[in-house]
Amino acid sequence: MLKINNLHASVEEKSILKGINLEVKAGEVHAIMGPNGSGKSTLASVIAGKEEYEVSEGNIEFLGEEIDELAAEERAHKGIFLSFQYPVEIPGVSVTNFMKTAINETRKAKGLDEMPAKDMLKLIREKSELLEIDRKFLSRSLNEGFSGGEKKRNEIFQMAMLEPKLAILDETDSGLDIDALRIVANGVNKLKSKDNAVVVITHYQRLLDYIVPDFVHVLHNGKIVKSGPKELAHELEEKGYDWIKQELV
Ligand code: ADP
Ligand code: MG
Ligand code: MG
Repeated sequence: MLKINNLHASVEEKSILKGINLEVKAGEVHAIMGPNGSGKSTLASVIAGKEEYEVSEGNIEFLGEEIDELAAEERAHKGIFLSFQYPVEIPGVSVTNFMKTAINETRKAKGLDEMPAKDMLKLIREKSELLEIDRKFLSRSLNEGFSGGEKKRNEIFQMAMLEPKLAILDETDSGLDIDALRIVANGVNKLKSKDNAVVVITHYQRLLDYIVPDFVHVLHNGKIVKSGPKELAHELEEKGYDWIKQELV
C-alpha cells in the first residue's frame, strides 16, 4: 500500500528526514515511536503532502503509484487520511454537516454526484453506532468547546466516514488522557480491516496497550534506526530511547 524509499525531507532549509525506508501493507498496523524532535510529525506531514515540506531525495509510492507530485488534497482523495493535531473550530457548522461537505467534496473530485441524503443518513447512522457516538454530539458545532476526548471522537468519526485506505494518526503532542486514548484505540480497532492500513505515531507506549501494532519503528534523528514486533514498544517503555542511541555509536 505505502512504500517509502530513501526519503529525505527538509523544512525551511533544515534537513529533518534523512533516508526513511518503510513499507506498509494492507491489513497492517504500524507504530512509529521516537523521542521528541526525531521527525515523526514531519514524516506524517510529508506522506500527507503538506506544502511546507520539501522532498529532496527519495520517493513515496501509494497503491503502486508515485505520489510525490500530488497536492495534499489529491492524496486525501486517493485515500490517505491524516489526523489533525490542532483541529479548527467552526462555530455554526455541526460535526455532521462538516462531514457531509467533506464527503461530497471528495466525491466531486472523483467526478461523482453528491451522495443522496438517504445514503448519507444511513452512513452517518452506521458509523456513529459502530463508534458509539450519540446524536447530541453529531449536532454540536465543530470543535467548539470540545474536550480532548471529544476532539478525538470527532477525528475518529471523520476517519470512519471517509473510510481511508491509509490512516495516519499523529498522537504525539495532543496530551491524551486515558479516555482519549481509549476512544482512539477503540475506533482504530473497529475500523481496521484487511483492506486498510494504519500508522500510529506516538511517544506513549500506553496507546499501544490498546492498539496492538504489527510492527514498531523507532525514529531517531530523521532515520528509522530500529524496527521490530510489538514487544519493541515494551522494551522502549522500560529502557527509554537512550540504549538505541548508544547502539548507534
Ligand atoms: P517529532 O514529531 O518527532 O517530535 P517533528 O517532526 O515535529 O518531530 O520535528 C522534527 C524537527 O523538525 C524538530 O527539530 C522541529 O523543530 C523541526 N520542524 C518541524 N516542523 C517545522 C517547521 N514547520 N518549521 C521549522 N522547523 C520544523
Ligand atoms: Mg514534537
Ligand atoms: Mg510530533
